[in-house]
Amino acid sequence: MNALKFVVPLVAMAGMTFGAMAADYPGTKPITLVVPFSAGGPTDRVARDLAEAMRKPLGGTIILVDNAAGAGGSIGANKVAKAAPDGYTLLLHHIGMATMPTLVRNIPFKVESDFEYLGMINDVPMTIISRPTLPANNFAELRDWLQANKAKVNLANAGVGAASHLCGLLFMSALGQPMTTVPYKGTAPAMTDVMGGQVDLMCDQTTNTTQQIEGKKVKAFAVTSPKRLTTAALKDVPSMQELGFKDFQVSIFHGLYAPKGTPADVQKKLNDALKIALKDPDFIKKQEGLGAVVVTDKRVEPAEHRKFVAAEIAKWSPVLKAAGVYAE
Ligand code: ASP
Repeated sequence: MNALKFVVPLVAMAGMTFGAMAADYPGTKPITLVVPFSAGGPTDRVARDLAEAMRKPLGGTIILVDNAAGAGGSIGANKVAKAAPDGYTLLLHHIGMATMPTLVRNIPFKVESDFEYLGMINDVPMTIISRPTLPANNFAELRDWLQANKAKVNLANAGVGAASHLCGLLFMSALGQPMTTVPYKGTAPAMTDVMGGQVDLMCDQTTNTTQQIEGKKVKAFAVTSPKRLTTAALKDVPSMQELGFKDFQVSIFHGLYAPKGTPADVQKKLNDALKIALKDPDFIKKQEGLGAVVVTDKRVEPAEHRKFVAAEIAKWSPVLKAAGVYAE
């Protein structure tokens, strides 16, 4: 009897404690934001700027970036899928959320059902760049050089399912030319090798290439947006569509996610903070300066972002299946 008397209050207390935790969230405990690519790359860059912009709306809580890189972004995503759903471990991912289900054969999590979607952050076009010593100065010369060098040409990417992998596949298929792909854990280390001349080409987000193009550390041949970009460093770079590749358009979205089961009020606090961050003039300025377009439409709403990712999966799945590329 006595034992039973004690059980009831303890269960009730446990429920109260959990409710109180969600009400106090985030409190003073830091939040870990997992980035599934290397530090210094474009996904990392969005994450660090966002962590700063979300800090104030979350009551000054520190957001620590954890670069859990590798396997085209699936290692970091899996880490968050398996983390405690308490709002203290989040994921910032990109279009890989839409390409991984098709490209990574034994993916250890489900993009559709293992995450709470917190909202979309931005859209970022890509650029086709080369090592500075590559002997071509415009797209026509690049094509001639590619044809002369065929599969000897190296093309860097951040692993199967990464944005650079996707863009590289489309590029090879548009040109009808296979190249030797070189995977890295992110495009930050890949960029070091492109600048150093160890790799010939890469297609990467403008958030990673703009400053290197401006500093003439790499050559730029095309952008993947339908039209030219207005950023000073990129305004003279033609779009793939302008160069005659009518269907060539890649835009890389970035979104924020939490493990499935994260309490609804914690999700709401995170979405509210995200919305404030996306209106932060400093965040917008930093992103726009690198060619990114910060989301201002309904895709910032979790349900809309979920719909958008589902549509991206449906859009890319047949393209990727046709390309016949998989990773175990
Ligand atoms: N831009 C990379 C990609 O190819 C990822 C990164 O390093 O942020 O997806």
